[in-house]
Amino acid sequence: MLCMKIYLDGQFVDEQDAKVSVFDHGLLYGDGVFEGIRLYHGRIFRLDAHIDRLFASAKAIMLEIPMSKPELVAACCSACRENKLADGYLRLVVTRGVGNLGLNPFTCKKPTVFIIAATIELYPQTVYEKGVELITAATVRNHPNAVNPAIKSLNYLNNILARIEAVKAGTVEALMLNGEGFVAECTGDNLFVIRNGKLTTPPVSAGALNGITRGVVLELASKLGLPASEANLTRYDVMTADECFLTGSAAEIVPVASLDGRTIGTGKPGAVTLQLTTEFRKLTRSEGTPI
Ligand code: PMP
Repeated sequence: MLCMKIYLDGQFVDEQDAKVSVFDHGLLYGDGVFEGIRLYHGRIFRLDAHIDRLFASAKAIMLEIPMSKPELVAACCSACRENKLADGYLRLVVTRGVGNLGLNPFTCKKPTVFIIAATIELYPQTVYEKGVELITAATVRNHPNAVNPAIKSLNYLNNILARIEAVKAGTVEALMLNGEGFVAECTGDNLFVIRNGKLTTPPVSAGALNGITRGVVLELASKLGLPASEANLTRYDVMTADECFLTGSAAEIVPVASLDGRTIGTGKPGAVTLQLTTEFRKLTRSEGTPI
């Protein structure tokens, strides 16, 4: 594999030279924000939506991104070009920057900005063909008044604790409930259920990220004339749904076969899930910001 060129604070450096300080609060405290973005056929999918969400996350944690939105868009495009990528995954990160060992973020004078443009490692193909077997994590999703899951921050320990449960149970994803017992999302993906042809996904207020792919699926549903809404869901609603699938920029659309050993629907990717997947792929082939 060729040496990757990493965008770091305005310059491209070789991957072995792409280093941040041990005093960076992104590392010391998970103090920062990020985006995971897809590049298809030389076009970056929904780049503006990702940049808008990055700025919203930064605003929520009082982090001033030292670049304008157009500058970040341009940096993402050049990161793809520098690495001669036509299909892949971008990791755009803004950390609080270098400070002292105290918590106070205002000791950090300059946020660190980096972009990794790489190829992507998807879930194994069997997951798309057979569906993922979910478990419910005992780890409860962060309360929105603690670390709001709507903020895509570098603080992913809540998700990682749940992901450990999934891996230890022999699977790749876990369902996370909020403090009230309603479904929030999975550790790195949003969740939809389908019952009688109607799509439902938990509201962001239940402790979900306002996923870009989730938004695209809601758009597609409306285009296809499928009723879709946001509502609180319980484990029961997931177990007894006709179909269930996950959405995420990296994962795209992933059918869910079961929850805690209860087969969902036929246990195979459902007709609506497959229809949405086809439409999603059409979209990724036909739109995006050219690099
Ligand atoms: N929820 C969480 C916790 C995530 O980390 C992600 C992104 N990996 C998603 C949902 C899906 O969001 P998006 O469609 O914007 O990638």
